[in-house]
Amino acid sequence: MANVFDQKLNDFMAKIIAKNPSEMEFHQAVHEVAESLIPFIEENPKYRDAKILERMAEPERVIIFRVPWLDDKGEVQVNRGFRIEMNSAIGPYKGGLRFHPTVNLGILKFLAFEQVLKNSLTTLPMGGGKGGSDFDPKGKSDNEVMKFTQSFMSELFRHIGPDTDVPAGDIGVGGREIGFLFGQYKRLRNEFTGVLTGKGREWGGSLIRPEATGYGCTYFAEEMLKTRNDSLKGKVVTVSGSGNVAQYAVEKVTQLGGKVVTLSDSSGFIYDPKGIDADKLDYLMNLKNIKRGRIKEYADKYGCEFYEGKRPWMIKCDVALPCATQNEVNEEDAKMLVANGCYVVSEGANMPSTPGAIEVYLKAKILYGPGKAANAGGVAVSGLEMTQNSMRLSWTREEVDAKLHQIMRDIHETCVKYGKDADGFINYVNGANIGGFVKVADAMIAQGLV
Ligand code: NDP
Repeated sequence: MANVFDQKLNDFMAKIIAKNPSEMEFHQAVHEVAESLIPFIEENPKYRDAKILERMAEPERVIIFRVPWLDDKGEVQVNRGFRIEMNSAIGPYKGGLRFHPTVNLGILKFLAFEQVLKNSLTTLPMGGGKGGSDFDPKGKSDNEVMKFTQSFMSELFRHIGPDTDVPAGDIGVGGREIGFLFGQYKRLRNEFTGVLTGKGREWGGSLIRPEATGYGCTYFAEEMLKTRNDSLKGKVVTVSGSGNVAQYAVEKVTQLGGKVVTLSDSSGFIYDPKGIDADKLDYLMNLKNIKRGRIKEYADKYGCEFYEGKRPWMIKCDVALPCATQNEVNEEDAKMLVANGCYVVSEGANMPSTPGAIEVYLKAKILYGPGKAANAGGVAVSGLEMTQNSMRLSWTREEVDAKLHQIMRDIHETCVKYGKDADGFINYVNGANIGGFVKVADAMIAQGLV
């Protein structure tokens, strides 16, 4: 039977590759999902006959636009803007904006494709989308970032809206950028609506939204550990990245009794064997969010090791939380993690593990929570922000955190329901892919050929 599925997978992927040439990350994301789904679809022919997987791999709409702006020297700069409106079967398009020089169509399509299944897993009514630009906020003044974001929104505003498409942040798009984007949208539309999430608290944002992805990824790790009557208490944890997701993963792991010993950025990683406590985290947040400095400065301040150009997976740990970017854990890294005793990987980033790395985790039967399940807490609280905006009220910190926690438990349960193998091992990859697929697929069938 495996051969029949392999053949179908190869045929399906050949078409995807031919239709979307040079979009490597998109091929990778679709392949991972199709591998889980093809056997399931063959068992449930209504999905095969309606060509749901083929339709899901084709965006409903792709918008690409020019973003011209003036830098501080008075020179004209031109960037490219994108919005992928991937799937609206279960709600308005929803997903972040990424500002990073590596952004291209293939990367955003992979992220949008993942987002559809992730949003479905949250149980909230959100379709999937993603967008961004090849603009690099690093080294730019606040004024330059504002000019760029205003120009970006001057085109994007006509394609989005609170019932159509609701963007949020991602790499390079934090509170500052969301503020500028929201201001420009409001000015152009003359409307104060919940068109973006991740807004400031005073102007429509939700409590716990900044924390949500990092907290959620940690809650997911805790849920996975519970299946083995274990917890994060006393565990040594390696984290990559030092941005939004990484910062709040460190905070929650520490609150739950674990010890985080690494952080990274694109120049290397720091190893702090004593652990990154609340005071050190305060320093890091100031360094990264206000001073916009480099992670090496942490090593200088606390007298610990900085490994230039390296990633933290060589450090011995029980739990690894990749929270930086795609393909940051390769097969060799995964082998090193497993050989050093790591038995939990919960992904804060999107697709941080390569296919080779995932194979290593599954073969070793460790607890592996893929991004679309483990990092869904961010978009879940974005969904809660949309609800609060519609109701024109704000929930307390405790209320939102309790809802986030419950959503992460529910996502975990869905993964167990669809991912438990005959021997009891929970394959969270299959669980997340099939669990996310069913709701979207049924909605697409019900809505006809659209
Ligand atoms: P930030 O921009 O706040 O932080 C990104 C971090 O990752 C920085 O430390 C950055 O270092 C590092 N990084 C980025 N690109 C690379 C690279 N190519 N190589 C090495 N390090 C890199 O982004 P977020 O924390 O918001 O996002 C991190 C990940 O989490 C992404 O994969 C994102 O898609 C995912 N995610 C985010 C959500 C959110 O709510 N923000 C929700 C769900 C997933 P440097 O500053 O040097 O570039």
